[in-house]
Amino acid sequence: IAPRYELFFPIQAHHLDALAKDILAQITPPPGETEQKRKLLAQLEQLCKELISSARLIPFGSLVTGFATASSDIDCIFSPIQVSNNRYVETPHVIEGPTDAEKKRLGDNPDYPLLLAQLLEKNGFQVLLLSKTRVPIIKLKRAASDSHPELNCDIGFKNSLAVHNTALLKTYSECDERVKPLVLFIKWWAKRRCINTPYLGTLCSYGYVLMILHYLINVVQPPVLPNLQDIPPPATTHARELSFSEDGGDTDYFIWFAKNLSELPRSKNTSSLGELIRGFFDYYSFKFAWGNAVISIRSKGGLKTKQEKEWTTANIKTAGGEGETENTFQVKNRYLVAIEDPFETTHNVGRTCTGKGLNTIRSEFRRAMDKIKTVSMAQEFSIGSGIY
Ligand code: ATP
Ligand code: MG
Repeated sequence: IAPRYELFFPIQAHHLDALAKDILAQITPPPGETEQKRKLLAQLEQLCKELISSARLIPFGSLVTGFATASSDIDCIFSPIQVSNNRYVETPHVIEGPTDAEKKRLGDNPDYPLLLAQLLEKNGFQVLLLSKTRVPIIKLKRAASDSHPELNCDIGFKNSLAVHNTALLKTYSECDERVKPLVLFIKWWAKRRCINTPYLGTLCSYGYVLMILHYLINVVQPPVLPNLQDIPPPATTHARELSFSEDGGDTDYFIWFAKNLSELPRSKNTSSLGELIRGFFDYYSFKFAWGNAVISIRSKGGLKTKQEKEWTTANIKTAGGEGETENTFQVKNRYLVAIEDPFETTHNVGRTCTGKGLNTIRSEFRRAMDKIKTVSMAQEFSIGSGIY
């Protein structure tokens, strides 16, 4: 870092802290909104029960982690049915599936996403069914009215690992009270700067959260967070807490992480929110080696190399079934932004980032750093400015 940045550091952090708190007050969901989202989810679950009486909608993502901003969607998984090799099957480990009478009514291998989409549409929701994605997704919308704001909800038909990584994120957020405001601020900035749109070549919110966790676990000194996946499980831990296999089959994911926070020492780091925000932007603007580093929050030190993971050339993988049936689809794996999923270590959370997306993200980080300097200097001379 150029010395003059350091010179202004205490002033910048102080202003940034006030700015961030002001913004957080505006973007934190209004009281009752989370409650409203949970209510909507319960209503939707009731409708799902018209299809299968034991149906459940299991929430994951920001509604559970607490990282929701006012505009955040609701993410959930339909249970007890999931997609496996192009067929809809009962989710393993779920006690209650469709009853025999329901199976008879629905017929052989019913198209559950389509049936549910039709049911929801009939009940007044705006529905979009995406069937060409890795797993079918129903996107629901309910327009704003006097009694509730606009609500968006995604219903997926697989991805039980999301429930586990959501629990990991939530536990990290409970480790230190600075995690949540930092995440909300960065998510707000990324959305506002249009670098949080995976389908347009940039990074999903989950990717930004993993970048923040890496910074808090491994970069800032002393660390704000411990590495929860690097703490050995007690000998009495049940096998179910250690590993998880998606279809009761092939791949075992090591899902253990420390959950008993009262046994962990408190962080010795006393940085303000503003200092952490500045440090985060500084790290990803000038220090992080985008060209060959892979963020791996489960590993000691938090970094691997692209060579080590053989994440060097983009490839196209056929997924969704065995052989080239019409139901298979192609997944493009890019490694320009490389962020290893904390449980599914072969999965690059940043694979949606294109070359153009990466350039935009990097220039936005540098722009933010420029603005941070300008804000502090401008405010010293009472000239208004902002990092947005
Ligand atoms: P937002 O408020 O923007 O909706 P969010 O915190 O809900 O943010 P999302 O990016 O919508 O974050 O992700 C929700 C959850 O979906 C994550 O917690 C994660 O479990 C899963 N997820 C999202 N993107 C990916 C991905 N690229 N790879 C693996 N899991 C993902
Ligand atoms: Mg979400």
